[in-house]
Amino acid sequence: MVEKHPDWFIRNKDGAIPNRGGMPGFSDRFSPTCQFTSYYSDFIPKVIQEVITRYPIDAVYSNGWPGTNATVCYCQACQKIGDPTTRAYKEAYLKRAKELWTALLKDSAAPQGVQQRAQAMLTFYGPAEGKQ
Ligand SMILES: [Zn+2]
Repeated sequence: MVEKHPDWFIRNKDGAIPNRGGMPGFSDRFSPTCQFTSYYSDFIPKVIQEVITRYPIDAVYSNGWPGTNATVCYCQACQKIGDPTTRAYKEAYLKRAKELWTALLKDSAAPQGVQQRAQAMLTFYGPAEGKQ
């Protein structure tokens, strides 16, 4: 995936894609993706849609997608936001999560459970600004 979409992955300050190898439970080939990229807004929703239309599954589990705990990332999208160690970046990260949750609520094809989680997160964190 890194070869096809290097723009989706979190970057270190030096521009390298960090490798989670060596962490218990993580493969050497695992690298986290950035919430500000189309991986979150386009790719994952399409994957969910494909799975629920092809297979008779009962649920979709989302482990922090989108998340609220800002990661430090220096990808091109994040460089436009600013220093990823600042409060402003953390606020932008939460704003992005709210925008992604709001998009899920407006997507009539999104699984009900995914929409319920999005609604619960927006209820807890408050609505996205200017998106209601
Ligand atoms: Zn980033």
